[in-house]
Amino acid sequence: MSHASDSRTRIFAIANQKGGVGKTTTAINLATALAATGETILLIDLDPQGNASTGLGIAREDRLTGSYRLIADATPATDAIRVTKIPGLAVIPADADLAGAEIELVDVPRREFRLRDAIAPLRAGAYGFVLIDCTPSLGLLTLNALVAADAVLVPLQCEFFALEGISQLVRTIEVVRRGFNPDLTLQGIVLTMFDRRNNLSDQVAVDARSFFGACVYDTVIPRNIRISEAPSHGKPVLLYDYRSAGAQAYIHLASELLRRERGRKEPIA
Ligand code: ADP
Ligand code: MG
Repeated sequence: MSHASDSRTRIFAIANQKGGVGKTTTAINLATALAATGETILLIDLDPQGNASTGLGIAREDRLTGSYRLIADATPATDAIRVTKIPGLAVIPADADLAGAEIELVDVPRREFRLRDAIAPLRAGAYGFVLIDCTPSLGLLTLNALVAADAVLVPLQCEFFALEGISQLVRTIEVVRRGFNPDLTLQGIVLTMFDRRNNLSDQVAVDARSFFGACVYDTVIPRNIRISEAPSHGKPVLLYDYRSAGAQAYIHLASELLRRERGRKEPIA
C-alpha cells in the first residue's frame, strides 16, 4: 500500500560524510514514522557499523544475508529482507562482511552500480519508500547509495562547521549526477540535535535556511534524551516513548516529507 507515490517506489539515500550527525537516527525514526502513516517502507543498512540494524532490534545471528551479499554477489534483494516489529517496515541489515566492501569493491565490474542493480527489481514492488542509511564517508559504499537513489536526504547537525561539510556533499552529488545518476536530486536537509538554549543552534539553522532555502525542512529535530536512549532498547523512539519531543518531531518530519512528495511534479516523459 503506497498512497504517496502510487506506483513508483522512491529511493532516498540518507547521507552526510560526517559521523554522529543523526543519519541512522533519522533513518530509523523517519522510516518508522512513515510506516505509521500506512506507507510500506524498506530501510537498507549500508553502514558496516550496523547501527540501524541494531536500533531496529535485528539480532546479529539474523544478519548473515544483508546488504553486503546484495552488492557483492548476485543475491536477490528479496533474500536479504527481514521484517521488523514495526508493521510496514522491513530492513536489509548490514552483514559483518560489509566492513571489507570499500576495498573489495574497487576491482569489481560496475562497482558504482552494484546497489542500484541489486535493488532495481524492488522498484516494481510493494515499497512506497526505500531509505538507505549511509556510512560516514564519501567512499564506494556511499557512492553506491547515491547512484541507487532518486534523491538525497541530508541530516545536518546544528553545530559549528556543519555547513562546510555539506558543501562537500553537494559537490559529490554534482559529480554523481554528471558521471552516474543524472536524475539524482537533493530531497531535503533536516536540522538535527537542535538545542534551543544554544545560540549556535539558531545560527546554524538561520545560515542553512539562507543558503539552502526551501530545501531545509521546516521540521527541526530537537536534541532529546529519549532519542538517544531508544536504540539500546532495540526500538525506534516512536515505540520507546511516543510522547517524547523526539518521537513527535519525527512524526512531523514524516508528514512534511509526504506533503513534499505529493507536491512534487513528475517529469514530463
Ligand atoms: P550518524 O548515523 O550520522 O553517525 P547517529 O544517528 O548514530 O549519527 O547519531 C549519533 C549519536 O547522537 C547517537 O548516539 C544518537 O543516539 C544521538 N542522537 C542522534 N539524534 C539525536 C537527537 N535528536 N537528540 C539526542 N541524541 C541524538
Ligand atoms: Mg550511522
